[in-house]
Amino acid sequence: MITREEIIKILEGITHPETGQNIVDGGILQEVTVGPENKIHLTLVFRRRRDPFAKSVAMRSKLAIEAAAEGADVEILIREGEDAPKPRQHEGIKNVKQIIAVASGKGGVGKSTVTANIAVELHKLGYKVGVLDADIYGPSQPKLFGVEDYEPWAEQVEGLDYIVPAKSNGVKVNSIGFYIGAEDALIWRGPMATNALKQLINQTLWGELDFLLIDMPPGTGDVQISVAENLSLSGAIIVSTPQRVATADVVRGMKMFQAEGIGVPVLGVVENMAFFTPAELPDHRYYIFGKGGAREMAEKEGVDFLGEIPLIQAIAEKSDNGTPVALGSSEEESYYAAICRKVVDKVTK
Ligand code: ADP
Repeated sequence: MITREEIIKILEGITHPETGQNIVDGGILQEVTVGPENKIHLTLVFRRRRDPFAKSVAMRSKLAIEAAAEGADVEILIREGEDAPKPRQHEGIKNVKQIIAVASGKGGVGKSTVTANIAVELHKLGYKVGVLDADIYGPSQPKLFGVEDYEPWAEQVEGLDYIVPAKSNGVKVNSIGFYIGAEDALIWRGPMATNALKQLINQTLWGELDFLLIDMPPGTGDVQISVAENLSLSGAIIVSTPQRVATADVVRGMKMFQAEGIGVPVLGVVENMAFFTPAELPDHRYYIFGKGGAREMAEKEGVDFLGEIPLIQAIAEKSDNGTPVALGSSEEESYYAAICRKVVDKVTK
């Protein structure tokens, strides 16, 4: 005889064509009873008064159960209308206090490195911190935190499956990189990437967090706009290198957050790879990519300048090893610490 649990498992394989959600998580399945003589009774509740898919969902449910349980007699009651319960939603970010996006006009400017190091600095200040790597074009948080081999697993909370994030150096990490191959981002269309990111954000078991940092995909396409639109962000940090050509993209990025209907405050600009000081010439500063372009742009646009980070070999090396420089205490660490303090001041005052 088939059990109630087995029936629910089978019905998790039946989706509503319009929402794409299975009928268990979507709240359509309201009641399952297994009676004598293989009699199985289901109540399916559809929120719409005339749901065009109600009959086919019921039929598929009946056939699926009968296929699994020989001799089962499945009877289905369909209820439609307002009194149906709302589908349950994942609420992974329910207890997250501040969500901050880290963005850049283009790739390769050090956005991910800044995200990881600020996350570690925040943790050092005693905050509970998470990082969501939403950079579909080059997810690098697994590497930065040394958790490339992490295999995400699910845990049930109140009947819904949540992804348990990786944890490294006190920071919870979930990355689109755990789920997609290196070439996949290229074939992703906007809505597909957007949906995957929304799911990733809401279905992660973040728990209580003071800060969730989102490593955004570079640029200002549909995906970026919809992430900015759909999350209640406390603010955005913009990372740029000093070149004038780079700063033009950055202004576009800032405008995206500030646009009407999005209205996310830009917390400020970080100038990365600001200068280079060779070990043998400690008093020299070489402005390889130009001097102060990002700082000037911030001033011109009326947003705060959060600080500069020089080009330092140790930053790249430690990033490659999965041990961000922020973990230690060194000259290079102090740059991130100063930026982090400014960010905390801005969002907590
Ligand atoms: P993005 O996220 O903007 O694509 P990354 O953070 O992945 O950029 O950085 C690109 C490369 O530059 C990485 O190899 C990283 O280690 C290196 N890098 C970033 N910031 C610095 C820095 N301040 N000094 C030296 N190397 C850096």
